[in-house]
Amino acid sequence: MDDNVRNYLDHYGVSDATRRFLAKPQKMFIDGAWVDASNGATFDIFEPSTGGLVGRAPSGTTEDLDRAVHAARRQFDGGAWRRLKPLERERLLHRLADLIELHADELAEIEAIDMGKSVTFAREIDIQGTVDTFRYFAGWPSKLHGRTVEPSIPGNYLAYTRKEPLGVVAAIVPWNFPLQTMAWKLAAALAVGCTVIVKPAELTSLSTLRFAELVQEAGIPDGVVNIVTGRGSVIGAAMSTHPGIDKVTFTGSTPVGQEVGRTAVGNLKHVTLELGGKSPVLVLDDADIASAAKAVVNGVFFNSGQVCDAGTRVYVQRSVHDAFLDELVAVTKTLKIAPGLDRDCYIGPLVSAQQKKVVSSYIAAGRREGAELIHGGVSLDRPGHFIEPAIFARCKPEMTIVREEIFGPVLVTDAFDDLDDAVTLANDTPFGLAAAIYSNDLSRVHGLIPRLHAGSIYVNAHSTIDPSMPFGGFKASGFGKDLGPEQLDYLMETKAVWITLP
Ligand code: NAP
Ligand code: MG
Repeated sequence: MDDNVRNYLDHYGVSDATRRFLAKPQKMFIDGAWVDASNGATFDIFEPSTGGLVGRAPSGTTEDLDRAVHAARRQFDGGAWRRLKPLERERLLHRLADLIELHADELAEIEAIDMGKSVTFAREIDIQGTVDTFRYFAGWPSKLHGRTVEPSIPGNYLAYTRKEPLGVVAAIVPWNFPLQTMAWKLAAALAVGCTVIVKPAELTSLSTLRFAELVQEAGIPDGVVNIVTGRGSVIGAAMSTHPGIDKVTFTGSTPVGQEVGRTAVGNLKHVTLELGGKSPVLVLDDADIASAAKAVVNGVFFNSGQVCDAGTRVYVQRSVHDAFLDELVAVTKTLKIAPGLDRDCYIGPLVSAQQKKVVSSYIAAGRREGAELIHGGVSLDRPGHFIEPAIFARCKPEMTIVREEIFGPVLVTDAFDDLDDAVTLANDTPFGLAAAIYSNDLSRVHGLIPRLHAGSIYVNAHSTIDPSMPFGGFKASGFGKDLGPEQLDYLMETKAVWITLP
């Protein structure tokens, strides 16, 4: 750890548990053992509010992945995990949820330090969401079943279906909600009886490594959960071709997801892809302007805009357009820009210097192409990767900032006249992750819901997420669902059994 990070932790204060964890040499978790990369390689871990160095983690090799797959296969093909009764699996998953909850403050600090996000939101959203996800899926193992049917063909048969776990699941996770996204993939996979290998993002591997200690403490058998840290182009890419892996579940950008999907399907693996978004928000003229503006600001700038289903394109009905934009700017001005460990931080730094460069170049493109920057967009002259949230007005459909996912605090807006225009603007995108409507007119709202091409529709709200509701996109935002009972179907095979009766 360098002095910048040490001073930062001293200034804001973090728990002894977090300090102890950060001071340790980080190892991967393979087959219940804590190991270095087979070739000893490591990568650096940075803290985004200072830009300082936190430590190093193993940069795994394909040999390390092989060992993880071997362990996961052994557990799946008749190991202790496969033989556990459903209620035993439930007990272990509940125990794991309890341990995460017990260590929630520490995990939130680790997440804030590694990713740069607000420690307060990390605790309330990321870690609470992780606990809730494990609790929700912990209840499923004893409720999974097939069905018995009465066939009409000649003869006398007992015909029934069995639900069986798919096998070894590889989870590739992005950096914006590291632990929570991992939980979305892991909890359901374990609940149905799969075994798992997780590849966290290099930018944010730490909370996943701390989590692995809790997996061990919970008593989940060795080899059921394996964590291989390292490069996406090495570990992630090898997951889609590895013969011992049955399913790849990927959350990340659309271009990488397309590559993962092509390779994995080419190798006849099951695939879930949770990809990028450019989600539209429609503000109708009957909406409550003040409360809608607050929700819209939260829906786009939460986590400094590094949210896959952020409402980044806002279309406002013309008669309320100017008043609504004034309100948007006024609310945005109240957001506190601060380091992640500041308990009152709303806008933290972007995750990396590279991400800040990308977001800045989009803001420059917006100005060059003639969008009107009505608030922010300035890169802050201080350590860390801070950018003021930006709001653009009068954005045209063909502009780069309207078409491409930016993944930073940049909002594009324009006006619409009637609901047909609104639907055309909303759907004019390759993505289809989410869409939001602000209105108090139920008939208009219900008329719009079927016309919007997106996996989640939020009405007078944004990014409301619960483990009981499925999440996943349409179109270039991917396919398959995480969360909800729907996710279970993406993790199980259905076997049809025919028995001839006398
Ligand atoms: P990314 O660059 O696509 O990376 C995602 C993960 O894939 C990381 O773990 C990365 O590893 C790994 N990876 C990189 N190259 C790979 C390859 N060739 N093969 C296999 N894996 C590879 O995305 P990101 O920048 O981390 O995350 C931001 C993106 O995720 C945004 O587009 C956002 O919309 C999307 N996202 C979607 C959802 C959703 O649920 N739909 C949720 C959150 C985020 P390394 O980075 O360690 O190299
Ligand atoms: Mg980091």
